[in-house]
Amino acid sequence: MKYAEVSVNAPAAQRQTFSYSIPSELTVNVGQAVYVPFGQKTVQGLVIELTDIPAFEPTRDIIGIIDSQPLLTPKQVLLAKWLSEYYLSPLFDSLALMLPPGFERRVITTIFPTSVEYDTSELNENQKKFLAAFKQKGSLKLKEAETAFGKKLAQSVISRLVELRLIERKYELERIKVKILQVPHIRLLITKEYARELAVTIGKKAPKQAALLNYLSLQSGPVSLAETRVKSKTDKAVTDALIKKNLANVENIEVHRDPLSRYAIQLSQPLNLTAGQEAVFKPIQAGLRHETPVNKSSVFLLHGVTASGKTEIYLQALAEAVRLGKRGIALVPEIALTPQTIERFSARFPGRVAVLHSQLSLGEQFDEWQRIRKGEVDVVVGPRSALFAPQPDLGLIIIDEEHEWTYKQSEQSPRYHARDAAIKLAELTGAVVVMGSATPSVETYYKGNRGDYQLLQLPERVVPIENAPLLEVKIVDMREELKAGNRNMFSGQLKQAIEKILIHKEQAILFLNRRGSATSIECRNCGFVIKCKRCDIPMTYHLNSDSLICHRCNNKMRPPQVCPNCNSQRIRYMGIGTEKLNEEVQSMFPHARLLRWDSDVTQATGSHRDILNKFRNYEADILIGTQMVVKGLDLPLVTLVGVVIADTSLNLPDFRAGERTFQLLCQVAGRAGRGQSAGQVIIQTYNPEHYAIQTAAKHDYKSFYDMEIQYRRQFREPPFTQLAALTFVHTNDNRCREEAEKMAKHIGEERDSKGIPDLSIIGPAPAFMHRLRGRYHWQIILRGSNLSEFLNNITFPQGWMIDVDPIGL
Ligand code: ADP
Ligand code: ZN
Ligand code: ZN
Repeated sequence: MKYAEVSVNAPAAQRQTFSYSIPSELTVNVGQAVYVPFGQKTVQGLVIELTDIPAFEPTRDIIGIIDSQPLLTPKQVLLAKWLSEYYLSPLFDSLALMLPPGFERRVITTIFPTSVEYDTSELNENQKKFLAAFKQKGSLKLKEAETAFGKKLAQSVISRLVELRLIERKYELERIKVKILQVPHIRLLITKEYARELAVTIGKKAPKQAALLNYLSLQSGPVSLAETRVKSKTDKAVTDALIKKNLANVENIEVHRDPLSRYAIQLSQPLNLTAGQEAVFKPIQAGLRHETPVNKSSVFLLHGVTASGKTEIYLQALAEAVRLGKRGIALVPEIALTPQTIERFSARFPGRVAVLHSQLSLGEQFDEWQRIRKGEVDVVVGPRSALFAPQPDLGLIIIDEEHEWTYKQSEQSPRYHARDAAIKLAELTGAVVVMGSATPSVETYYKGNRGDYQLLQLPERVVPIENAPLLEVKIVDMREELKAGNRNMFSGQLKQAIEKILIHKEQAILFLNRRGSATSIECRNCGFVIKCKRCDIPMTYHLNSDSLICHRCNNKMRPPQVCPNCNSQRIRYMGIGTEKLNEEVQSMFPHARLLRWDSDVTQATGSHRDILNKFRNYEADILIGTQMVVKGLDLPLVTLVGVVIADTSLNLPDFRAGERTFQLLCQVAGRAGRGQSAGQVIIQTYNPEHYAIQTAAKHDYKSFYDMEIQYRRQFREPPFTQLAALTFVHTNDNRCREEAEKMAKHIGEERDSKGIPDLSIIGPAPAFMHRLRGRYHWQIILRGSNLSEFLNNITFPQGWMIDVDPIGL
């Protein structure tokens, strides 16, 4: 093959590949990373396909190879192509998901003077100034020039001087960000015994050398130089002395930056499966052995209540895959919140687990990636991005808490859903997919019911319910409280329940789906609400810093003393947040020890674990938090969970509001009663009759699903239709609206010319977040089927964001 189709790392490339010729001295394979010329620049590229005939001519040569081995397997290349087509994302963005951490490097432009003679009288002042600045330095980075002269001026001066051939631009990739870590180690060149003898002999004359010899004689092999110096209390002169005498040498040794070194891990053995677990394990095992009956899917939905033993099934399925010579990937919703999951996996597969997520240092990510690629691990554990780890011989993909929204990447392209991408990857590799949840997403359960997936049920807890603490769920109608004159945020019942746990030395969790102390500041006189100037959403008051903060863009301001609109002093703090709740609880229960857990207090890495550990060690009586508190906790002393207000998520303008509320409430309720004493859940709400609240209180997924699917069918919402959100972003609201209108019209024409009756176009309308970080958003919603296919034939100018299967509207 003489030609390669290459996806290049340049925004202009979009979903296209480009043809390059392969110079005879290079061996190039699919999945290989290469340097290619692109315009005037040299950029990174990935080989997608080898061909005999180029798709476009004339072609330029591939310049060189970045890594001698292909970085991507042919199957990963296929997956990236699918992602790019289905989610309409630039191809390189999709491929980048699978590349080693730190791989992507920007092109840096440097400007050099040429040897061309010039007549200064022809130049203007700016051009002269520029050349003078330059003469001193010899060369200048474009960035430096832009800082010195301002972006616009620098660019116009540079292009003029390039035209005059007085300067030239050169393009290079920025410095390598991360590589294999080599650390100097010191090693004895003599036996340990001789080292000890020698230490005695020279002890008087050279006590430090003797100390170092003694230290080294106690080590099992080479030790890092830095560590040696600290532990033996010696310095460079001492090590140098030993090296000079040929008693030791220093060599560089590859060191693995290991994120799991922070965990204390104890080996655990597989448990004997219960009959219920056995029944769900069998078909998964058959799937792994490629013995699934032809009419059945090898994608499994494991629907099991909390503590029904799903994780044990994951672990044993992985063990089975490993026995069959395969490996696995296990996805979790949010790694920072699931340290226990990592510990459980590591305990079962000691030394054979890798974790991958963005909170690790780049070095750790890079080393884990390399280990995985070499086939050194059985299981990769991580959030959605871990799906793209270079795990060879993939046999099993696990998706824990399948319903979690974090599996969808919404903020940037490709806007993929890890569940759907996993199913595609499994189809390409022959792997089995096991998705688990106590509250499966409605779409997934629908497909399970229909047989697209094999639906497996674990309806009971592992510990039979007779012996387990009873979970009592109470719904409190806050309208009644209000009528009875209670304007407090605590109902009488919740207050009493808190008093009780304090007396019994148990623990409580109070849950609120909102951080900050008040949602907004409103004027009682004119109704004016203080909003972020850039984002146009109400700003949130934070008590600690006595400031208003925009939860979109982090813009901060002092709360005003008078209404900015009418100058009235009747300014009122609306709503409640965790901070305010904290304050109220403290004043009601002055002796209670409180702990707050929300993203305001957990900005720092690791603090999730700290808070959790504190609470588990009974250093607090009450944990107050936002939705974070509902994830992955297992706390034996907690016997009360109070949902202070359940309606927040119910009031969202979204077809998934009911599902979201149900899931949250179920998870919250699932927290209590894991220990020895009985548990109680109190849900305070203004909508006590809503089916999402009623069914969540009874832990009745089936009834919730039956109501919800009926509603989805009636209003033609997913899974009965497909959605795509097309958003145009611009700093000018009018331009933004015009472009959106133009596009909506164009799409309408396309639809009519193709004759697609079931495609409806809603909008354009200002997006829910109309103004965000100073930019406007107009949105078009499409409903129909096979939307990706349809959208692939439409050209979207710069500024459009496309979200196929958005999680929320
Ligand atoms: P889930 O993932 O559904 O919440 P887990 O797998 O964490 O459930 O199981 C809940 C508890 O029951 C855990 O403490 C686990 O160790 C225990 N467990 C699970 N399976 C068994 C079994 N077959 N025998 C004994 N204990 C089990
Ligand atoms: Zn006012
Ligand atoms: Zn803002």
